[in-house]
Amino acid sequence: MLVGDELYIATRRYLIDYGMRHLNGLGADHICKVCIQNGGSCCRTCSHLIDGLGCQNRNTSCTSWLCGYLKLLFYKAGLIKDWDTFWDEVPGIEFRKDSTPPLVKMTTHLEVPMMRELGEALANDLKVKLSRDKNNLDFIVLARDLDNLIDEIEFADHSDIAVHLIKRLNYLIKDFHEFHQAIKNIELHKWGEKTTQVQKGGILI
Ligand code: SF4
Ligand code: SF4
Repeated sequence: MLVGDELYIATRRYLIDYGMRHLNGLGADHICKVCIQNGGSCCRTCSHLIDGLGCQNRNTSCTSWLCGYLKLLFYKAGLIKDWDTFWDEVPGIEFRKDSTPPLVKMTTHLEVPMMRELGEALANDLKVKLSRDKNNLDFIVLARDLDNLIDEIEFADHSDIAVHLIKRLNYLIKDFHEFHQAIKNIELHKWGEKTTQVQKGGILI
């Protein structure tokens, strides 16, 4: 959630840590774990990756980049636009490296989400999917399809085309039962909080 637009100075290190806290706040690490175990890792063949130790040179580019599954996670959490707005302000984002200066002027400030159950639920659904599939090909193709489709939905905004694309997206993820339930729980929780706030304010809806 966007919580402010006042100018502030952030270090490159801070931006990377902040991004990681967001990803962890949505439980993205659960999904990456399943993906890496099944040969889908986006870090494959990168020179900064050391076997058993992980990435030795994390940068703003890899932190901000979302694959299809992480895009789905951010999209369904309602945070994808905020995430893009935040990283659009960061200069020097490249492929697997950055030229981001040590200090960056920023205005976007996001609240770190606390929805780890969302990523965990999606990871569990992906595990079920992988256990049914013959190999990991469909898993990799689905990540690409989700990536393209969510970009198209964002581009279509609220037009009639977007409605059609959202239907397609929901069809692609129709078997992700745990993920759907986690989204419903979060929506119910948000609705409950809103109702309590309204009642405390003495206004009945
Ligand atoms: S492709 Fe996506 S899910 Fe897989 S390791 Fe990379 S960011 Fe994580
Ligand atoms: S630099 Fe990026 S692609 Fe390379 S290992 Fe680190 S996170 Fe993965």
